[in-house]
Amino acid sequence: MTNIEEIKLAAGILRKGGLVAFPTETVYGLGANALDPIAVARIFAAKERPSFDPLIVHVASADDLEQLTSQTTDLARQLAARFWPGPLTLVLPKSSRVPDIVTSGLPTVAVRIPDHRVALELIQTAGCPIAAPSANKFGHLSPVTAAHVRKQLPDIDYVLDGGKTSVGIESTIVSLEGNACTLLRPGKITLQDIETAFPGVFELQDGKTEKIVAPGLLKSHYSPTKPLHLYDRQQPELPPASGVILHGHADHEPECRRIIYTSYNQNYLETAAHLFSSLHAMEDDPGIRQIFIEPVEEHGVGRAIMDRINKAVYQYRKEA
Ligand code: AMP
Ligand code: MG
Repeated sequence: MTNIEEIKLAAGILRKGGLVAFPTETVYGLGANALDPIAVARIFAAKERPSFDPLIVHVASADDLEQLTSQTTDLARQLAARFWPGPLTLVLPKSSRVPDIVTSGLPTVAVRIPDHRVALELIQTAGCPIAAPSANKFGHLSPVTAAHVRKQLPDIDYVLDGGKTSVGIESTIVSLEGNACTLLRPGKITLQDIETAFPGVFELQDGKTEKIVAPGLLKSHYSPTKPLHLYDRQQPELPPASGVILHGHADHEPECRRIIYTSYNQNYLETAAHLFSSLHAMEDDPGIRQIFIEPVEEHGVGRAIMDRINKAVYQYRKEA
């Protein structure tokens, strides 16, 4: 487990412009000092991430929100007070302190406080906000352990090992314009969670309840290196050397090389927590040639899980 000496070492690397991978409650992040454009450029290079895809800035206190943003609304403060530390990212007009490379030239910046001891101590010890996307190669499986990070990014300066992450999928992202709130990416904190705390918050003037437009959100993402397909329990036969990922008890297990259950009883929080690790395990298993994954129902966290699954299978669709 991570001790204070390791955190001090990692914070020193960040202050000198280096890259540190660190655990958050969602997935492992690849961090750099958010106020140092050269350091942030190293994130894009290490990940082979296109420069049009902006980064999330991680802070340790809600006061930092005021430093990074130019118009912090009451709604932003209330959402932060209700859901931070936690897997909710807020997109707000940026202040001039935030380098353009962090936001891919957008006039807005994405900010959150992660709910993880190591991440918070790292940010506090480094004394700067940390820009951090997921610590993987662009488009590939997100990392939920330090080993997953090392597999894809062996050359970064330092990896803080805080064990497996608890939430397992990336944060919910909402954009805040004036008093309107728009969901940009589903996550563990659902639309309903936000609506329950702030009734009517997603109602836009054009009558639509939401729209999903965010830079960098592509159809294909989060993909394993082996072919991945949706699995239907009625499917009669699977090709040899198949691995199957299920999310609930099966009376009749499919005949295949390996089965991994993300949950035995369709508990979607468990499924989210084990989604990427089950895909990594199949990817790393030399006996598996292709992977099948069961869909989940798109309610609650299921929506965020299906978002990741749909993007992960996209490049392997038959017509692709
Ligand atoms: P991740 O790669 O998981 O750190 O997620 C970063 C994602 O946050 C990007 O792909 C964008 O979709 C979204 N994002 C970050 N900054 C902004 C912004 N200023 N406006 C809209 N979306 C943003
Ligand atoms: Mg990512």
